[in-house]
Amino acid sequence: MWSGDVVVVGGGSAGCAAAVAAARAGARTLLIEATGFLGGTGAAVLDTFYGFYAPGRADRVVGGIGWELCERLFAWDQAFERPNTYGAGTGVTYEPEALKLAWDELTAEPGLQTLLHATVTDVLMEAGRITGVVVETKAGRGRILAQVLVDATGDAELAWRAGAALERPDGEQRVQPLTATFRLGNVDLAATPTKELHRLMREAAAEFGLPRTEGSAHRTVLPNVVHTNMTRVSDVNPLDPWQLSEAEREGRRQVRDYVRFLKERVPGYAEAYLLGVSTRIGVRESRRLVGRYVLTRADVLTARRFPDEIAQCGAPIEDHAAGSSTIWKYVGGAGDPTGSTYGVPYRCLLPREVTGLLVAGRCLSATHDAHASVRSMAQCMAMGQAAGTAAAIAVASGRPPADLDVEVLRDELRKNGALL
Ligand SMILES: Cc1cc2nc3c(=O)[nH]c(=O)nc-3n(C[C@H](O)[C@H](O)[C@H](O)COP(=O)(O)OP(=O)(O)OC[C@H]3O[C@@H](n4cnc5c(N)ncnc54)[C@H](O)[C@@H]3O)c2cc1C
Repeated sequence: MWSGDVVVVGGGSAGCAAAVAAARAGARTLLIEATGFLGGTGAAVLDTFYGFYAPGRADRVVGGIGWELCERLFAWDQAFERPNTYGAGTGVTYEPEALKLAWDELTAEPGLQTLLHATVTDVLMEAGRITGVVVETKAGRGRILAQVLVDATGDAELAWRAGAALERPDGEQRVQPLTATFRLGNVDLAATPTKELHRLMREAAAEFGLPRTEGSAHRTVLPNVVHTNMTRVSDVNPLDPWQLSEAEREGRRQVRDYVRFLKERVPGYAEAYLLGVSTRIGVRESRRLVGRYVLTRADVLTARRFPDEIAQCGAPIEDHAAGSSTIWKYVGGAGDPTGSTYGVPYRCLLPREVTGLLVAGRCLSATHDAHASVRSMAQCMAMGQAAGTAAAIAVASGRPPADLDVEVLRDELRKNGALL
């Protein structure tokens, strides 16, 4: 069906950046995405990139393809910078429909093909090396062959099917709760400051059945339209299709309850109407690679640097798995943000057991706590750019991704705008 140099599976923040980077570095590249649009969770669930800025400092810590995407959105008047209420650093709020289009344009690179509505259902292996994938499309089953593959599926689908070591949710392993986001039109956001909104939530929680009594209702690119991140569906294994189905239904039920609460109890929302619920429920965490290095809580809290780092991150540990509130722990370990960052080693993208595979985005190799810091979309795009660049270097040099000269990779990333 297709054969080339690099295949990237998953068209979210990490996968799009990986595919663009690989193609720009000269690799014949295919990007495969299960849905009909690019942007992944960033387009289906969210509207704000975090991680470009570290809390407590004004300069950016992520550049490259991710920032090029933002500049395109700024130029279209479809994005703006917004301070984060909880001190997670300045965010870039964008219009999700414009994001899909921006990725369509950025992925229109020579040498890069995109296959939408195609689900990878298996991997092809030869003696511990991944050589391709099986896809299901409306045309039936097809085989896709490549020299290097990038797993940007969010759920480590390729790594899992290839037999790589993984951490996964089960009885013992805690994962963050799921959230269905929604947008409301005709809101006067200025009528209720965030602190007052949270007070009203606590007051009405029992009456309206609200599982979370904080969260975000923030302004968007569109006038009088707010985007929310409020619902909380806990104790779900997102890899169990039955549990995930029930979570989708529960998420929509909670949206109904929050909308009713907002309209009935919160000044500025009386005439609001529901514009839409996230295309699918947002999954913060599922399978993660156990790679050649596992990023830890101590690495985050001590702002650790690594000789092979391919991205930096200043986002706090943001753990939603704590009852009705969220726990925040800043990089460097201080009570307040200091602007410190830690490095994301290249080894976090490399499986131990499988040759020819790189993993990028929210399924990187990190513990639960470190993941709660490093999963922001700017870091996913930085990891994606690194994985795509590494894949192209590996193809050109004829060496597996694990054996490439990491200084060559870092130089190439810097040349292309990465902030290392
Ligand atoms: C509720 C919620 C709120 C969040 N808030 C923020 C925030 O405000 N700011 C921020 O920066 N980050 C936020 N995050 C984190 C961030 O959104 C994610 O960590 C990030 O988007 C993950 O990007 P990704 O590219 O790794 O995966 P995704 O964006 O999830 O992309 C994975 C893609 O792979 C595709 N795919 C999966 N399996 C297959 C397959 N077998 N075949 C083909 N395609 C496949 C999927 O369809 C999807 O498009 C939030 C996350 C959630 C869930």
